[in-house]
Amino acid sequence: MARTCSVCMREDREEVERALLKGEPLRPMARRTGLSRAALQRHKLHIALALAPSPKAAELLHRSKLTAMVEDLIREVHRLKRKAERARDIRAAIKGLDTALKGIEVLAKLTGELDTRAQHNSLHVHLDAERALAIAETYAARHRVQPGTAHRSPTMPTGG
Ligand SMILES: [Zn+2]
Repeated sequence: MARTCSVCMREDREEVERALLKGEPLRPMARRTGLSRAALQRHKLHIALALAPSPKAAELLHRSKLTAMVEDLIREVHRLKRKAERARDIRAAIKGLDTALKGIEVLAKLTGELDTRAQHNSLHVHLDAERALAIAETYAARHRVQPGTAHRSPTMPTGG
């Protein structure tokens, strides 16, 4: 039979949990909330269990971090692309579009919107993400031009 926790059931549970996490002494908390110290002590374990790292949680956290990184890079690439357009550096602008596209692909894979090989080859996706990030970073580093100083990228191939 499941035993119900008087703290878990409370409407002000979050407030109680914040106090517990801050390490507030149980005696005054018990007095204030009308809960028993034993109940508060027991609920501490519930918090610990809820906060315990799980592989799934770590995976999700890792994903969300990667997603945020890729989103940042895409924003940066868009910014640089606009700059390149203003400077009439069309090659750099096109490269920017290409890089943004790669970033979006990676982002889509990370967020699961593209149902590609990700399902049975996560290593491949990981390598793709790293490569795309490296490309975007290289692009950002090479094209950090001052506004108004139009110049051709020294790293762009001229043939084609
Ligand atoms: Zn509880």
